[in-house]
Amino acid sequence: MHNTFKTELIKKHSCLPARVTKITTPHGEIQTPAFMPVATRAFVNMMTPADLVGTGSQIILGGNTYHMLCAPGMELIQDVGGMHRFMSWDKPMLTDSGGFQIFSLSKNGNICKIDEKGGHFKHPISGKVIHLTPETSINAQKIIGADIIMAFDECTPEAGGRDAALAALNRTHRWLNESIEIHEKNPHSAYGFKQALFGIIQGGSFLDLREQSTRFILEAKLDGIAIGGEVIGFDMQKTAEVIDWIQPMLPENKTRYTMGVGLNPQDLIDVVARGIDIFDCVAPTRNARHGTLYCGAVVKKDNWLTFTGNEPQNKILIKKAIFAKDERPLMEDCKCFTCKNFTRAYLHYLFKQQAMLYFNLACIHNIHVMQYVCEEMRKLILGNS
Ligand SMILES: [Zn+2]
Repeated sequence: MHNTFKTELIKKHSCLPARVTKITTPHGEIQTPAFMPVATRAFVNMMTPADLVGTGSQIILGGNTYHMLCAPGMELIQDVGGMHRFMSWDKPMLTDSGGFQIFSLSKNGNICKIDEKGGHFKHPISGKVIHLTPETSINAQKIIGADIIMAFDECTPEAGGRDAALAALNRTHRWLNESIEIHEKNPHSAYGFKQALFGIIQGGSFLDLREQSTRFILEAKLDGIAIGGEVIGFDMQKTAEVIDWIQPMLPENKTRYTMGVGLNPQDLIDVVARGIDIFDCVAPTRNARHGTLYCGAVVKKDNWLTFTGNEPQNKILIKKAIFAKDERPLMEDCKCFTCKNFTRAYLHYLFKQQAMLYFNLACIHNIHVMQYVCEEMRKLILGNS
């Protein structure tokens, strides 16, 4: 096991900010661009670690702090030796600070309240009040034992306008300093290896606030830089504007992470074109569950790529009767386990039956498509396409 974390620039695209980097973590190396499947509750829906490796996944977002505090609890995770062992995932892992979950829960003030110290919520089963602060979040992430941990932040709501964005930014910066103080006392996981700490840029859709937040995060000299807030990944036009604005400020030797990007394969292509390295989103598995499966091809256009095909929005709805006798794979030329072995007709039938097997095969395909898009971007940037 390497006891180190570093980001090395391997190659930049000839005319775009897109790049290939190598990230070295205690649990192995990652070549970026790389999509992170989401296991906030310590499992990726319907997928085993072997399934994930089969899709080309190199890193996952494992066991989110908020969810792990609720169940199974930090004591059990520490007893079994951390999230890698608990989930039987021996490759790189990133975990989140819980900032997003308290933001989400605070929309219902009875469940969670946010103040200057942090988020305060009732345990959904025991009813016990849990205080999630920079200190408790960082300490929990040391027990989770991910290779990359996140500073505790307040996710910026889009509805609140400039005042809310400024308030979230100031809180996030203050909590970043507290997160760093806790982390620097012992920058290791509970299991002895060094953890990388990433800071999160807030500022909503306001470019001057994004710039201010970027400067603050860069001064802290962290291991990596994340771009957060409700708008990121949700509104891709604004996401692109924010990245374009701050990208020239970002140093080459730091990993860049857009949080919650990946509603569609094209979204990955659009943020990588702007210089982003890693991203996560629950959409591929959620879409799969609901019968929405990605279907298109990665096509070269103007020395970059696009995900396009004949299906509306490059997706098929497998429940439709037109697939009942369709003997083709879900996506032409797809090398995933599902497409190599099964037809649309079979998946349509499984979906109609609501068979458990459908969910596994569908998730494998959608996650594979995200990793395939990343692989094609890496190949193009490296000049191997
Ligand atoms: Zn496939």
